[in-house]
Amino acid sequence: MISSEAAPFAKTGGLADVVGALPSALADFGDEAAVVLPRYRSIDLKSARRVWDKLYVHFGPRIFETNIYQAAAPFPVYLVDCPPLFDRPGLYGESGGMDFPDNHLRFAVFARAALGVARHLFRADVFHCHDWQAGLVPAYLRTTFSTDPTFLGCRTLFTIHNLGYQGLFPKSALAEVGLDAGLIRPDGMEFYGRVSFIKGGIAYADALSTVSPTYAREIQTPEYGFGLDGSLRARSADLSGILNGVDYREWSPEVDAHLPARYSAADLSGKAVCKRQLLAEFGLPENAIGRPLFGIVSRFTRQKGADLIAEAIGEIVALDGYLVALGTGEPEYEDFFRRIQGEFPGRVAVRIGFDNGLAHRIEAGADLFLMPSAYEPCGLNQIYSLRYGTVPVVRATGGLDDTIEEGTGFKFAAYSGEAFRDAIRAAAAAYADRTGWEAMMRRGMDKDFSWKASAAAYSALYRRMVSAR
Ligand code: ADP
Repeated sequence: MISSEAAPFAKTGGLADVVGALPSALADFGDEAAVVLPRYRSIDLKSARRVWDKLYVHFGPRIFETNIYQAAAPFPVYLVDCPPLFDRPGLYGESGGMDFPDNHLRFAVFARAALGVARHLFRADVFHCHDWQAGLVPAYLRTTFSTDPTFLGCRTLFTIHNLGYQGLFPKSALAEVGLDAGLIRPDGMEFYGRVSFIKGGIAYADALSTVSPTYAREIQTPEYGFGLDGSLRARSADLSGILNGVDYREWSPEVDAHLPARYSAADLSGKAVCKRQLLAEFGLPENAIGRPLFGIVSRFTRQKGADLIAEAIGEIVALDGYLVALGTGEPEYEDFFRRIQGEFPGRVAVRIGFDNGLAHRIEAGADLFLMPSAYEPCGLNQIYSLRYGTVPVVRATGGLDDTIEEGTGFKFAAYSGEAFRDAIRAAAAAYADRTGWEAMMRRGMDKDFSWKASAAAYSALYRRMVSAR
């Protein structure tokens, strides 16, 4: 697995959860997986060991020296250490949203070093490449290394976790990363006058997947295709949708060490303790305990539907509800959340930041969880919410549509404030009927989205790819 994120080493979103959990789940199907990850500043090398010295990446006259470390983990995790490229404050850019200007070089060196890991340390039958940051791996294998005996017969799977992030650079970037200008063509890596790293995966991987069946269909339409729907339709036969699993060892109220009290479907009493403590942690009034508490944990971006929150916050307050939100992201949306906190003091409480423990406590302490996403490839928080008896209110798109059903949550279709408010009203009405509400919570808690089914699907796909060679 070649990925720019893997929990617990480096995480900004769901990609990290997937790559952190899938290798162990695959082991049950007899598949041995290793992960290659950049060594960012936030990854401590103290418990890692150096397993390869001086793996050089040459791009024309430029030479990058990398060293490979293996981290202490249940499966091999190789860290590509190249301080000039990765010893920086963020994964992809400075905080505040500006990408690093040399991201093309950073992830090209990463891709080449990952192939070096495969050459020297871990022979792979399949390169499972995740998102644009690994998009050059299929491109290098198809070009630079097409006759290299090490990689003969190797297959590539490219998984799209979010089509909205494409790795777009000026055309000149291609030469800088040692790829031929001939790849700049519409059925190659060209995208409206620029070079697209995600198209390296889409055009040159042997197979494509994304993280839910509905999203696999949606991205082939203009509405959700971000301009790539044509390229994806051209590869429709090779594109599958495999729903992410979740790691219930991390995300279950029975065992969650981040909570002030634990609970289960059989005994929900601990959930009230979690709610009381969450209200206190956010400085909301104690007497809110009997009222619906809505929770949000999210990257604050347009994708996650902040615009719809703006149109529905008045409704939540009018229904005598409360809202707690945790997230970081684009300054404009961070400001929006600060603003509604100021507008509805004692009703709406917001934390700007990344705080895993608090994310767990919101999942446990809230009654309802809001995900009005414009699009959602899979989404993990709604699945966590089910397990915590926190009823999701979601827009019926992508993985949200595939995981939430009538009886376990509330769905709305149109991306409009009106549709969202209707769903919130329906949810608040249901909350008022305690017996019905607990039945709904328990139906959600009984759902099983563990990795087993997803790992089985990936394993079968890898095997099909390898037997086709
Ligand atoms: P995405 O990958 O689009 O961000 P997902 O729902 O697939 O969305 O995954 C989000 C993951 O990141 C979840 O594990 C969620 O708990 C976590 N997360 C997102 N924002 C924060 C935050 N501000 N603090 C802690 N965890 C967060």
